[in-house]
Amino acid sequence: MRRFSTLAPVLLIVALLSVTLSADEGMYPLSEIGTLNLKAKGLKIDVKEIYNPDGVSLVQAICDVGGGTGEFVSPDGLILTNHHIAFSAVTAASTPEHDYLKNGFTASTREQEIPAANYVCKITESYRDVTAEVMDGISAETPPVLRATAIRDKMNAIAKREEGGRKNIACQVSEMFPGRSYVLFTYRSIQDVRLVYVPPIGVGNFGGEADNWVWPRHTGDFSFLRAYVAPDGSTAPYAKENVPFKPKRHIKVSMKGVKEGDFVMILGYPGRTFRHKTSHFLAMQEGFTLPYISKRFDWLIATMEKAGMGNRTLELMFADDIKSYANTAKNYKGKIQGLRRLDLVRKKVAEEKELQAFINADPKRAAQYGTALSEIGRVYDAYRAVAPQELAYAMLGRTKYLGLALTLSSGAESKEPKAESVEKVKRTLAARYADIHAPVEAAILAKSLVEIADLPAEQSFLPGMEIPRGSSVAEREAALAAKLEKMIAASVFASRESLLGLASLTRDELEKHDDFILALSRQYRRAGEAIRERQRAREGELNRIEASLLDVKMAWRMKSFIPDANSTLRLTFGYIRGYTPADATTYKPQTTLRGIIEKHLGEEPYNAPGGLVELYASKAYSKAFIDPALGDVPVAMLYNMDTTGGNSGSPVLNARGELVGVNFDRAYEATINDYQWSESYSRSIGADVRYILFVAKYLGHADFLLDELGVKI
Ligand code: GLU
Repeated sequence: MRRFSTLAPVLLIVALLSVTLSADEGMYPLSEIGTLNLKAKGLKIDVKEIYNPDGVSLVQAICDVGGGTGEFVSPDGLILTNHHIAFSAVTAASTPEHDYLKNGFTASTREQEIPAANYVCKITESYRDVTAEVMDGISAETPPVLRATAIRDKMNAIAKREEGGRKNIACQVSEMFPGRSYVLFTYRSIQDVRLVYVPPIGVGNFGGEADNWVWPRHTGDFSFLRAYVAPDGSTAPYAKENVPFKPKRHIKVSMKGVKEGDFVMILGYPGRTFRHKTSHFLAMQEGFTLPYISKRFDWLIATMEKAGMGNRTLELMFADDIKSYANTAKNYKGKIQGLRRLDLVRKKVAEEKELQAFINADPKRAAQYGTALSEIGRVYDAYRAVAPQELAYAMLGRTKYLGLALTLSSGAESKEPKAESVEKVKRTLAARYADIHAPVEAAILAKSLVEIADLPAEQSFLPGMEIPRGSSVAEREAALAAKLEKMIAASVFASRESLLGLASLTRDELEKHDDFILALSRQYRRAGEAIRERQRAREGELNRIEASLLDVKMAWRMKSFIPDANSTLRLTFGYIRGYTPADATTYKPQTTLRGIIEKHLGEEPYNAPGGLVELYASKAYSKAFIDPALGDVPVAMLYNMDTTGGNSGSPVLNARGELVGVNFDRAYEATINDYQWSESYSRSIGADVRYILFVAKYLGHADFLLDELGVKI
């Protein structure tokens, strides 16, 4: 790994002002790890063990997988991650006869492992600052659309050039601070990932949505996967002859456990935070975006649940979508509540007033930054006015028939040899088609189309669509859904075969095709051109203003900032710690098996597997799984580390860099973390590795896993 200087300008200012980095919040990029003085915070190993730019370190044991994080825990490519990260692969492999989602899955031999289709595993190999190249030729005068487009294009071009067609390598340029810092990351990519062990749903999702984003928690949210490569070590899609990947480093498991106050750290791939955004952004989130999306997702969940009731095949088909919608909807409701409770928008406005006063106090500063905040305000006012249209457009883009049509048109544009691209498109269409239930999709499409028809006239698009009349929105949606169902039945999209037949059409043939879904996708793409142009202009403006606002904020605060999470590898550290989330409520930081038995009702969402309940009653298990201080099998742990979505599956490491748990969630109050971290409410949740192995051994009879991890009981 090479060191990079993303924060070079930042660090320079820090050095000049000789202030130290604040350690209270932080998803630290690799370049910062050496500056954190972790020994003083409780680390008991050399910091080079965590990250060593010139050698092997824990960083090489961490991968980005399935939208979250995984860690290698054996020399044979065994990955520990979350149940909810393996979830899509588990539902895809499940049928009513082989219901791995419900009953769990154990591959006792390597041959029994099941391919997790579309799972890619990426390991950070190196990184390099490319800010100068990305920003070359861009100035404050560059028009916004050009600025946004030029930056995106350069980020992609650099990544492509550096990848240079290498099979094992994936490159990506990530924006660390808009308009001021860009880093090229090089990843080792692996395309053959398989399911090894998955606990029953009554463990992996115990407590379901009721307990999601909640402490105290009793969910065993873990699964084991394995990464495979071609016999010569190169990256290859699933093939029988592939062999387990040998990571440069794997993490050792510790059965010694944790207690309140212990130092812990997490390495992982946090997705997205918004801590450097202004009050304008937060006001829009609170007032519009979060309520809109959570309400829509609640509706989608209710629609799918109703359609799937009593039909296990349909339930399995919808399970993945429902889970992810429910997860987001609850998170957003937590955020709305948090924004209100903390009165965050008003606080940000007050902070910005102080910043403005600081700017105004110096004529030179006033000349340079005086209008930055009001300019951002203007951008958001304009954004707010068109946000209903943009979200309606985004929702339409998520509907599945339209998704198939868009796959067809992008396939027809492909520069690949025709036969190859046709095959690829067919594979994608076939996989997606298997996930479509026409009545539900008709209802979802109808909701979008009625919403678009009801936009203010100047924002409405899709003029060709006739919407039935009715006395209420729900009535019009239902009438349109019934009409759409008939139209779908008469469409080329009615059967898999006729749909796959479209894959060989040329671009012109597709453009002329009169099927209503293809016509809809043409209208959608046309409307998208204007919307995207506006979005690029906004992105370009914000990119310029936010970059300069950050400059003056650093001068004001006399400190550097850590970049917002952006799906690149970060370290966070903290302590095992309880909290007081509300009046008269104090929580301890560890839960136990007894708590599962207390919650167990024998029905969803508190439906622990029979084997677990009996085991607890019989106490016929090894003492190695019992925490002596708790006198019971520990289940989950709470800590004040700084995490977000994408940290799912990250290892919770002790002061010696050994794995003691796997991160999977946050407490409800900490959903607001993405906007603001606080010692008082920022708590994340992990599953104790002793519970993980307890379940694997006694419920999964997967003793081979313990052997592979080198855990002796
Ligand atoms: N449970 C979270 C999710 O599914 C992941 C971890 C987090 O966001 O804290 O998004």
